Amino acid sequence: MPSYDLHSHSTVSDGSLSPTDLVFYAAAQGVDALALTDHDDVSGLAEARKAADEAGIRLVNGVEISVTWRKRTVHIVGLRIDPAHPDLLQGLDVLRQSRVVRAEKMADELSKAGIEGSLAGAYAYASDRIISRTHFARFLVERGYAKDFKSVFKKYLVQGKPGYVPHQWADMAEAVSWITGSGGVAVLAHPGRYDLGRTNLQLLLAEFKECGGIGLEVISGSHSADMNRHFTEQARLLDFLASRGSDYHGPEQNYLDMRRLPPLPDACTPIWQAWDGFDD
Ligand SMILES: [Zn+2]
Ligand SMILES: [Zn+2]
Repeated sequence: MPSYDLHSHSTVSDGSLSPTDLVFYAAAQGVDALALTDHDDVSGLAEARKAADEAGIRLVNGVEISVTWRKRTVHIVGLRIDPAHPDLLQGLDVLRQSRVVRAEKMADELSKAGIEGSLAGAYAYASDRIISRTHFARFLVERGYAKDFKSVFKKYLVQGKPGYVPHQWADMAEAVSWITGSGGVAVLAHPGRYDLGRTNLQLLLAEFKECGGIGLEVISGSHSADMNRHFTEQARLLDFLASRGSDYHGPEQNYLDMRRLPPLPDACTPIWQAWDGFDD
């Protein structure tokens, strides 16, 4: 079976490899079909497609959209989207603009905690497209406020800690409609990462399905083996198609490397089952 990795990031959002370098890296890691799913942006896809043609692998047009669901942030991956679709582009544009405002508030909050210069510091790591918490995290590590990436999100930028700013992202139904309206399929990303409790998680899955979501990322580079097992079972029980993605952000970040990502278990139906001979 070809190896599908349907979740990855480039320098267009918060990854550390350019779209071209990411694609060649994926090819070297044995990936046959890669989805580039930058946060709230599709502008890396053209470059990634060119690289994929050169590297001899398939590129799946993707995006990862930030959504606020019952005051929590969840991520929805869109696969096989049309990156030129007007509603999708317009929706992503609004999200990116809201990131700029959030970043300014985050810098104010860090400044209250005695950390100056974080806005410029974060932007020094960002592309001209997206500013994210990851860029603030890199600045904080660089300045020695945390020893590495893992620890920075324990001390800063999360609820109850300096630099945290509550934020309103897209509505779930809206985000799914941008994806499906552009011809794509919507997948709930890394479901094991949401600290929701069993009841709310079931509600999230049910509402996601009602909105038109059809996929669950059962194998994720940010999941434990237990989470992979649990969501494989959930996909089967709740009749979701199963997706697999490393969520690779670059060599220095603490996600599983592409080559080490477990395969999709036989128990579930791969989301790419109907994609044979796909042309995108
Ligand atoms: Zn995510
Ligand atoms: Zn991601």
